[in-house]
Amino acid sequence: MSERGEITFSGVAASGGVCHGQVHVLGTRHVHVSQRTLEEQEVQEELRRLEGAMAATRHQLAQMHQSLSERVGSHDADIFEVHRMVLDDPAMLAEVAKRIKTDHCNVEFAYQEVSEKYAQALASMEDAYLRERAVDLRDVSHRLLSNLVGQADQDLLSNLDEPCIIVGHDLTPSTTAMLDRKMVLGFATDVGSKTSHTAILARALKIPAVVGLHDISNRLENGCNMLLDGHNGVVILNPSDQVLFEYGQVIRRHEDREARLKKIRNLPAVTLDGHQVSIGANLDQPSETEDVETFGGEGVGLFRSEYLFLNRTTWPEEALQTEVYTEVVQKMEPSPVVIRTLDLGADKLSALIEPGSESNPALGWRGIRYCMDNQEIFRTQLRAILRASASGKVRVMFPMITSLTELDRALEQLQICKDELAQENIAHDTSIETGVMIETPAAVMIADALASRVDFFSIGTNDLIQYSLAVDRTNDRIAHLYEPTHPGIVRSIRRVVQEAHEKGLRVTVCGEMAGEPELVPLLLGLGVDALSTSAPLIPTIKFLIRRLKLEEARTLADQTMSMPSSHEILDACRTLVERIAPEILPQKEEDHAIL
Ligand code: PEP
Ligand code: MG
Repeated sequence: MSERGEITFSGVAASGGVCHGQVHVLGTRHVHVSQRTLEEQEVQEELRRLEGAMAATRHQLAQMHQSLSERVGSHDADIFEVHRMVLDDPAMLAEVAKRIKTDHCNVEFAYQEVSEKYAQALASMEDAYLRERAVDLRDVSHRLLSNLVGQADQDLLSNLDEPCIIVGHDLTPSTTAMLDRKMVLGFATDVGSKTSHTAILARALKIPAVVGLHDISNRLENGCNMLLDGHNGVVILNPSDQVLFEYGQVIRRHEDREARLKKIRNLPAVTLDGHQVSIGANLDQPSETEDVETFGGEGVGLFRSEYLFLNRTTWPEEALQTEVYTEVVQKMEPSPVVIRTLDLGADKLSALIEPGSESNPALGWRGIRYCMDNQEIFRTQLRAILRASASGKVRVMFPMITSLTELDRALEQLQICKDELAQENIAHDTSIETGVMIETPAAVMIADALASRVDFFSIGTNDLIQYSLAVDRTNDRIAHLYEPTHPGIVRSIRRVVQEAHEKGLRVTVCGEMAGEPELVPLLLGLGVDALSTSAPLIPTIKFLIRRLKLEEARTLADQTMSMPSSHEILDACRTLVERIAPEILPQKEEDHAIL
């Protein structure tokens, strides 16, 4: 359905900036498949790729089935069960396998040809029910081909011929990671929250984004005219000339602010009373390395290595991983790079893992748990990280730790890799620093014990908030309950810092809180030593720190200890920042006459 007249939709402000343009609604996708003749020795691998893509497709269908059942009931969701049956049609699969084995066709081409032949046969049936199955077959074939080529989303977004605003139900991290920045003005999605990975990536890419718009993808169609305000979480359909004029002024004010920030981005983040804070960058994809220097980051405080594992149908080998890590490390030299080991699972799904249908993926087979059950994959990564440590300053960090046993097992694997490399005479940093991400309530409670095993802590507030407050970080319906200033969170941070400092460890915050100007004084007042955030946010944080006295940050943190509610703590944080650096706060809604 398309909408007429000016209509304003409110969602969650996920990534700052304003854009105006035509809408492109995700949905009609086309996978490009090319034809290739296989060598005899490639046949087995091609059959394995088919199996891998089948498994990934089944998993996606099961997930969609579950999520739709929860929203609209199982009857409507049964369509995905039909898709699964269509996918598993033995006759069709046998024919695909035959084309690969006998005709030496590449799997994508064989599958596309055979499935289209079957779809055409169904489409010409007299029986209406069977005719409809042609649509299902084409749909599921598209999904399987997307998984096979591992870049369907990239194809989709790189096929755009003019810059536009992408509107969709959701954008997976893999879609977001692969998009062509030049062609995407902004994002607007039905679901998501400020700390969902789509939002994190949008900020890293400096793409304005509004998420949690409920059903916007159903209400719009390609070509609609839209203005998107990522500062305030608003999109305006068919904006009037008056609205466009007023937003023009907002954009100009934003540009002035950027110009001011540009001047200070290479200065140190030092408070007015001389306390220096190190600000690293969070790297979501290796290609963002350039931004670290541009925006004045001191090394990489969090390299989310899982992005190397998205959009692939085979596991990246040690050599490839070594190459990628080494390149980042060399570019950052002499600044450190903290590489987090694989944290796949939950909303960072890759076609490579098949967790089965989990009813609670965030509490499921993710992060270190997956690595412990797949030690070869884990060791391949650890070896690559160690090899990269020969080229500069590397630290390794383990995600989702909940117990000492888990940490000990991870450290044991690291030791095995070090011993192997020593035996093979392969250079690496034998005393590489190790760290734990403190992102579960259990890790907070045993921080003293964890601190005796590693060299540093990094607080992952995104997950720590999700798990402490029992609020799914991707669920827009409960986004208002996701409160970084909840007294429970503030106390957890204080506790972790105290335990760490007692053992002589430094503490970084690498969750999105570190990039929220309003919250940075609180973090520093609580004793946090370093921050790591999306590179484009670093200049704002530096600007703020250079206006702050550590003493007043400490007073703020002490005062919050007796405040009973998130709102009170947030208000106290805001009051301080409004006093010392009002120019960096997002322009409030009342600044916009139009809203
Ligand atoms: C976090 O949980 O705060 C974090 C930095 O990790 P991620 O967002 O990748 O889960
Ligand atoms: Mg996390």
